[in-house]
Amino acid sequence: MSRVYNFCSGPAALPEAVLKKAQAEMLDWHGTGVSVMEMSHRSTEFMSILASAKARLARLLNINDDYEILFAQGGASTLFSQIPANLANGYDSACYLDTGVWSTKAIKEAKKYLDVNLVGSSKDVNYITVPNLDTLPLDESAAYLHICPNETIGGVEFSGLPKTDLPIVADLSSTILSRKIDVSQYGMIYAGAQKNVGPAGVVICIIRKDLLARSGDNLPSTWSFANLAANDSMINTPPTFAIYLADLVFEWLEEQGGVDAMEAVNIQKAKALYDFIDSSDFYANPIEPAYRSRMNVPFTLADKSLESLFLEESEAAGLRTLAGHRSVGGMRASIYNAMPMEGVLALIDFMSAFEKRHG
Ligand code: PMP
Repeated sequence: MSRVYNFCSGPAALPEAVLKKAQAEMLDWHGTGVSVMEMSHRSTEFMSILASAKARLARLLNINDDYEILFAQGGASTLFSQIPANLANGYDSACYLDTGVWSTKAIKEAKKYLDVNLVGSSKDVNYITVPNLDTLPLDESAAYLHICPNETIGGVEFSGLPKTDLPIVADLSSTILSRKIDVSQYGMIYAGAQKNVGPAGVVICIIRKDLLARSGDNLPSTWSFANLAANDSMINTPPTFAIYLADLVFEWLEEQGGVDAMEAVNIQKAKALYDFIDSSDFYANPIEPAYRSRMNVPFTLADKSLESLFLEESEAAGLRTLAGHRSVGGMRASIYNAMPMEGVLALIDFMSAFEKRHG
């Protein structure tokens, strides 16, 4: 068996130790004689897995009792609709910040429910920066402010938050657990699991309990945050295997020293890769340095005609899925928590050798 370094943006590489543990437990989870996939979601065994996942996540992110942790379904894209459907009940509008492709998609869905108050956009500069968060024209009577602090496709990330009394709703799909955050600054955080948390199929939601009162009675039952909270995320069958793997990833994160330790490594990984790109005339990254993503590093080759050769040779060298998103082209290395420093160094070695051969 040979595993490669996998730079896919999602579903992304999982820690090898987690995959091995899941493999060892696959046929017989803790002496039950069945795999997690074959258990009732209401069994005491699965309930213990769900409780463990919640407790570990709460410890990792320091989530206090003012917040509820929910496991939603339908991908983060479904949350683009579920959020206005739940949180704008009784409001006419919500504020949205546009920093790239994923914010734009969230805005498109929200417009089906409410008036979107676009409080800032970096579209006119092709999303290479982030609007000034201190001067956003926020409407404090809106339902909430929606932001996407890490744009997975554009490779733009920001860590500051605007000062506002509005509940801040953040799509952290591609940055959750990669850096410290203060959960108490947010009304709601959501993240599709398939980057830093586990396999696709579950969306982690962390929501301030007072906001649950906004979910109206006429919502589809499976869409209501209040209903999900009241039923411990088990209105219907949850994605049990995805939640189990998320619990194993959370356990692995705790063993690594938690989010602080991951952040320290993530800073080093991103710095090594951006420093190398900046030192070369052969490769380029267009994002303003202060807003470069630590998780998703897009880059271009000065000679576009070499792109397919770059991809061919990098695959052959055991560096997988370096193509940029189909909408933007170029290259992109996603270096989430599960990507070790050695993987980033192997990529840099390959890029340097490729430049020597073809530059
Ligand atoms: N938001 C962000 C920031 C993403 O990166 C993605 C997926 N790449 C999504 C939302 C959509 O996630 P899903 O495919 O789970 O709907």
